[in-house]
Amino acid sequence: MEKKLLMTPGPTPVPESVLLSMARPVIHHRHPEFRGVLKEVRELLKYLFETKQEVIVLASSGTGAMEGAVSNTLCRGDRVLVVEAGKFGERWSDIARAFGLEVEQIEVPWGKAVSAKQVKSMLEKGQHRAVLMQASETSTGVRHPVKEIADYTRASDTLLIVDGITAVGVFPIPFDEWGLDVLVTGSQKALMLPPGLAFACLSEKAWKAKDKSDLPCYYFDFAKERKNLETNQTSYTPAISLIMGLQEALRRIKETGLEKVFAEVALMAKATREAMQAMGLKLYAPDSPSEAVTAVLVPGGIDAGQVVKIMRDKHGIAITGGQDQAKGKIFRVAHMGYISRGDIVAMIAALEQTLTELGHSFPSGHGVQKATELLA
Ligand SMILES: *Cc1c(COP(=O)(O)O)cnc(C)c1O
Repeated sequence: MEKKLLMTPGPTPVPESVLLSMARPVIHHRHPEFRGVLKEVRELLKYLFETKQEVIVLASSGTGAMEGAVSNTLCRGDRVLVVEAGKFGERWSDIARAFGLEVEQIEVPWGKAVSAKQVKSMLEKGQHRAVLMQASETSTGVRHPVKEIADYTRASDTLLIVDGITAVGVFPIPFDEWGLDVLVTGSQKALMLPPGLAFACLSEKAWKAKDKSDLPCYYFDFAKERKNLETNQTSYTPAISLIMGLQEALRRIKETGLEKVFAEVALMAKATREAMQAMGLKLYAPDSPSEAVTAVLVPGGIDAGQVVKIMRDKHGIAITGGQDQAKGKIFRVAHMGYISRGDIVAMIAALEQTLTELGHSFPSGHGVQKATELLA
């Protein structure tokens, strides 16, 4: 009887108390009981996003909120600047083009973070309506300098639209304090829930842009959702069970405190990175690693796909490989949400056995020793 451990950068494990909340009978979404749930969830989401703004709740995967971020705030033909530093950066370009926007990209090599200076100099040249970027580029394990870019966009007419899907609840990204314009996230990364919910928060500047926006939106109409949320309702049938789970997950985050959550995730991320290096492995994003996910280059001659397969089949630990140009070259492990220090040690121990089996030679036990030393 194999015990499984989910350490992929989405979905992530769901705590027992959250699973039990979702196992309760389905209630009606227009009745007082559910409205009470939504009322509390609205407040807890403001705590999570560190904002006074309403946080829109959608029944979709994270990409739905990304699409809505574009379709609610921009106009046909608008010029936007996209930070393309991996798979999810490319998604911003795809969405923007699907809505008839003019896309200019900053192409950043995979494994590297964009420089705020470069964004600034492109913006100075270019009449862009918005910058679209990731806070954490999950495909490469990179963290981008959102705050530094916000320092520039805040005082301008340009909207800063941020995919925080592996950032919100992972590391500090205070929406109001930094002056972001749109921040989106999804349920299955740091929020300790199954996939199926997406969230979006808009600044005053973004809500004004919404009034002028002429792009088509119906299901993802954020203004309509905001109006309904003010009466503790959603426009359409919400994902009732998921929202009941969300209430429990957000309560747990609040009880722990965001600062503590961030510190714990950062410690597990550091232990993971250093343990990988102690095993003679190289990090894919050594200069600006995301606390959500660690991307690791496999030694020459080893296929990263094999690492993922052996970890899954022999050790019951789900991790992921690389996508596109990083396929076969890297594997990725996540340390956000409901992951414990013990999970990190177990993952490193299994990885030591896996790499040994694949012929990588390194001083046995060094990875585990490093991880335990840092986590003690
Ligand atoms: C997971 C992820 C997404 C996509 O979310 P879906 O829920 O699969 O639509 C988008 N951006 C980033 C950075 C992610 O990690």
